[in-house]
Amino acid sequence: MERVYNFSAGPSMMPESVLETARDEMLSYAGSGMSVMEMSHRSKEYEAIIAKTEEDMRVLMGIPENYKVLFLQGGASTQFAMVPLNLMKTGKADYVVTGSFAKKAAEEAKKYGKVTVVASSADQNFSYIPKMTSDMFSEDADYIHTTTNNTIYGTTIRNFPQTKATLVTDMSSCILSEPVDVSRYGLIYAGAQKNIGPAGLTVVIIREDLLGNAMDITPTMLNYEIHAKNGSMYNTPPAYSIYICGLIMKWLISIGGVEEIERRNKEKAALLYDYLDQSKLFRATVPAKEDRSMMNVTFVTGDADLDAKFVAAAKEQGLVSIKGHRSVGGMRASIYNAMPIEGVKKLVSVMEQFEKDHK
Ligand code: PMP
Repeated sequence: MERVYNFSAGPSMMPESVLETARDEMLSYAGSGMSVMEMSHRSKEYEAIIAKTEEDMRVLMGIPENYKVLFLQGGASTQFAMVPLNLMKTGKADYVVTGSFAKKAAEEAKKYGKVTVVASSADQNFSYIPKMTSDMFSEDADYIHTTTNNTIYGTTIRNFPQTKATLVTDMSSCILSEPVDVSRYGLIYAGAQKNIGPAGLTVVIIREDLLGNAMDITPTMLNYEIHAKNGSMYNTPPAYSIYICGLIMKWLISIGGVEEIERRNKEKAALLYDYLDQSKLFRATVPAKEDRSMMNVTFVTGDADLDAKFVAAAKEQGLVSIKGHRSVGGMRASIYNAMPIEGVKKLVSVMEQFEKDHK
């Protein structure tokens, strides 16, 4: 069975070696006589898996000791409620709205307190990152919420101003793609299904002093403190997804960590954007280079029929899930950590041929 290059925005490609290890360990993990899927989450074997996964993630991201790493469920979308429920001590927060997930996060937070949308790029369908300066944010907000990478629109916040209030960010579609100074943030969250592992796992990295302030109405399962106190084992965690996450952390370490993956990601993104910027047929939907995402490259021909034709032509060549999100149209190539450079080179060559054929 030939594998395709999968440009899906998530769930997305996994490193082949990770899938092979999962296959090899499918029926019996490390001599246990059972699959990790069948294993009690309270067993010695499983405790070792979750502990090593956390340790490797801490090493890769340089997570300081005064931060907890939580392995939760409910997707990044559940964080839209969990963040305000746990962090809105005085009932007000600032939100930066750079995409539809950011907007959903702000809308959800409004159920629990006063939300100020400090900056937004909704006026141009989120195709840019609004200019932001420190003085735009209130110093006494309980937190400032941002979305580091906007999966649908192909934008990334590169330079966020220094602010006094606690920073919270949704890193679902860029976590572990490049080095990050975790200490700048009070809380980082990410759905796993792009750079971390299979869907069903959500990772939360939270500074310890932010625990213990949940609103009284907070459901037990949505209280960070409960999960932190129980080592993400208050109830059954997404055990198999955490195991695969552990394999991905091992893979990242084996190739040279986030510094090496950043080098590879930059190279992949540059290949695509450089081609787009000189193409007479295709153009990137994000004009400002400094706002462009290294993970999700969005582009169009300007003709919806031609876009559909290109998506079909790419599929013929084994390049799948390249259709853009319906709110942007056109194409989106999600080139997360596990996408090899060969996949991007092939995409560029298919685009070149398509351009020749449609002069
Ligand atoms: N935030 C971002 C940036 C996303 O890309 C997504 C979609 N994958 C979400 C939030 C929602 O994530 P989930 O489907 O895990 O709830």
